[in-house]
Amino acid sequence: MNGDFLATLRRVNGERLAAWCEGGPLPDATFHAMELGGEVGEVLNVVKKLEREAKGWRGSRATVADLTEELGDVLICLDKLAALYGIDLAAAAAAKFNATSDKVGLPHRLSAAAEGFPAGAMYRSGHDGTGPDPSQFFCEAVSDAPECRRVRTVAGTEAQARAQAAARLREGDE
Ligand SMILES: [Mg+2]
Repeated sequence: MNGDFLATLRRVNGERLAAWCEGGPLPDATFHAMELGGEVGEVLNVVKKLEREAKGWRGSRATVADLTEELGDVLICLDKLAALYGIDLAAAAAAKFNATSDKVGLPHRLSAAAEGFPAGAMYRSGHDGTGPDPSQFFCEAVSDAPECRRVRTVAGTEAQARAQAAARLREGDE
């Protein structure tokens, strides 16, 4: 799966939802959150049945194909909830993944592109030791194409600083 797939999912998911509601009111956040919770519950139920199978206990069974189907449902519903708030799931996941790696001191990072930076951009981020507020975080990012650009942002969280830097570099591409 890649960012292009998520972009396509966002578009077609929204088009289908509008058609599904046949011009009526669209579902609100509570509905989408309940729908997502329901699909996560279906995943848990399938996993329970797979464990039952593995242990040889009595009861109904499920297959990995069933789990695949339910995990697909979770992504579809997750996208609909995120869309309501204009959240880019690829960027959100990459930002959170990288922030967690920073927090626990592991080197694993998802790409800058996945966080919404232009292709080929690089960044570094961390505590802002130069500003008046030491609790702030900075992000410095550079992009080489079409011209060399450098931006520096400061925000209350590292993820926010990165998101703002990515947005400013993207603005330069437009
Ligand atoms: Mg389902």
